[in-house]
Amino acid sequence: MEEITLRIPSGKIRIKEGTCPHGCSLIDKKKLMSGQPAISVEVRLRGETGSMHFNPYYGIFDYETDVELHPGDVVDLYCPHCKAALTVPDLCGMCQVHMFAIQLPDGGEMRACPLIGCRNHKLTIIDLDAQFAEFYDEECRPKM
Ligand SMILES: [Zn+2]
Ligand SMILES: [Zn+2]
Repeated sequence: MEEITLRIPSGKIRIKEGTCPHGCSLIDKKKLMSGQPAISVEVRLRGETGSMHFNPYYGIFDYETDVELHPGDVVDLYCPHCKAALTVPDLCGMCQVHMFAIQLPDGGEMRACPLIGCRNHKLTIIDLDAQFAEFYDEECRPKM
């Protein structure tokens, strides 16, 4: 398979489908961010368990959580349904901590660093049609 690199302005792509490694949907229609269903996961840190919601627009580093987080904290993220860990073996090249991943349709993946304050992230898209359906739709851009 050929790999191409695209530079995409923040907020241009919305993650519309995303699952844990076991296939549970992490898209949370009950929690909206920028007017769209957020990506909701379980967060564990210092013995506390809570929920964490990510803005579904790729590149917008916006999250809400009921656990107190400080810059430099490394959170453990799990599927809120089956409790599978979202951690992957790959390390963040900047922080040397294990990244976490959200599975996208047809083998795509969104990876990000779980260290609060690190913005290292990567998007792998296999099904261009499904993921880019909104790419040209200006009305879908989040209101900042
Ligand atoms: Zn799951
Ligand atoms: Zn990092």
